[in-house]
Amino acid sequence: MMDQVRCFIGLGSNLEDPVNQIETAFKELAELESCTLQNKSSLYSSAPVGPQDQPDFVNAVVELETSLDAHALLDKLQGIEQAHQRIRERHWGPRTLDLDLLLYGSEQINTERLTVPHAFMKERSFVLYPLSEINPELEFPDGTPLSQLLVACPMGTLSKIRV
Ligand code: AMP
Repeated sequence: MMDQVRCFIGLGSNLEDPVNQIETAFKELAELESCTLQNKSSLYSSAPVGPQDQPDFVNAVVELETSLDAHALLDKLQGIEQAHQRIRERHWGPRTLDLDLLLYGSEQINTERLTVPHAFMKERSFVLYPLSEINPELEFPDGTPLSQLLVACPMGTLSKIRV
């Protein structure tokens, strides 16, 4: 059997009943082949980054164990996004479902398709707070503790919407 890698996925939606989009995505992630859903955060709401003339986002984070390599996992995530008929009209615009591979074990990946740890995640409250809810002891591949990043990242508009 291949080694299992622990990874974290960020979920975001601000169109077409976002709470339902995220809850459906939880189920789809749990059913992915060669993956086991270990944990999921509460749902959070946050004001959009970038253009403000769009609805607030619903965000969450899940922890998965997987034997897929990182690019195969990205393929699966993009398949789920497409099944949600993701609307992608403009950069940082509204979307039905966005799935980001935040962390893949302790690997640092930089390819044409994949930057892991995900770019910007270290300064996004909608990633860091849900992550700390499910894994407060987490450390980044460069050794930075999540708790250190949280100190530098105010919650801002982020609030928990479901427990
Ligand atoms: P976005 O519109 O922000 O969701 O960006 C999607 C693009 O980001 C895709 O073409 C991916 O190949 C690329 N990408 C790079 N790194 C990641 C990552 N860690 N997770 C998800 N997508 C990524």
